[in-house]
Amino acid sequence: MTGRRWFSETLHNGLRFSLEASDVLYEEKTEHQHLALIENAAYGRVLMLDEVVQVTARDEFVYHEMMAHVPILAHGAAREVLIVGGGDCGMAEEALKHKGVERLTQVEIDASVVEFSREHFSSFNAPVFDDPRFDLVIADGMKFVAETDRLFDAILIDSTDPIGPGEVLFSAEFYAGCKRCLKPGGVLVTQNGVPFLQGGELVSSIGHFSKLFADASAYVVAVPTYIGGHMALGWASDDKALRTVPLETLQERFQAAAIETRYYTPEVHRAAFALPRYIGDLVEKG
Ligand code: SAM
Repeated sequence: MTGRRWFSETLHNGLRFSLEASDVLYEEKTEHQHLALIENAAYGRVLMLDEVVQVTARDEFVYHEMMAHVPILAHGAAREVLIVGGGDCGMAEEALKHKGVERLTQVEIDASVVEFSREHFSSFNAPVFDDPRFDLVIADGMKFVAETDRLFDAILIDSTDPIGPGEVLFSAEFYAGCKRCLKPGGVLVTQNGVPFLQGGELVSSIGHFSKLFADASAYVVAVPTYIGGHMALGWASDDKALRTVPLETLQERFQAAAIETRYYTPEVHRAAFALPRYIGDLVEKG
């Protein structure tokens, strides 16, 4: 299907973020959600689920690099990594750049997002599908973390916003499941929205983390497609030292990993935990 159409995201009260589609490459109502792939002059290919932007070809590296490399390099020896959600497989691509990762399990509820992204976002996710360490499970992340007998060094929650199938991924029960399958000294990071517009979401997640983990906080990243300023990524671990790994150690690990990045640097990693006061206040509230 071709033609010029505007696609609008109305996730935030009183705001409408619209993208002009120079081409509508695909549109489908899957078993779980409404999926649309459009071509946009500013962001390139854009995937929308239930009318919310999920990933764009031009800025995917920002979010994916910060959500994968920060926990993996802070941990320093992550061998077993779990991604919940992440259907576009950009997160898996970043995590698999770490040679020390022996198995990357991705639990995604909607097989069609993966199949579809494999076809349309091969510009960044192609290496994932040829990597024998990639273990894709099509299931509800909530059920998986409650039932698996496997343990992970790092768990990355690359979820949709707390609407539709992604809502459960922000619940106390889900975070307790994550804690259950995290190895001692492991780390959990979560997609926690834009605090300026979704402050309640951050307060709620941090509140749940605080009851489960010795260290509960967040770090920030500026994602061009997400309106409203910084995006927050939630951080939870029983090892408080993981949040403050010295810069020199991160520099050594990053150099040893020999990974090419466009946003992540060890300096940006350290700085991302310095929270603007209004975000720090939300974390304190949680
Ligand atoms: N970076 C994105 C954002 O926040 O805009 C998230 C991208 S990723 C495409 C989100 C994925 O989470 C989707 O593929 C969706 O199908 C998946 N998802 C939603 N609810 C889920 C659940 N309960 N279990 C596993 N995956 C889920």
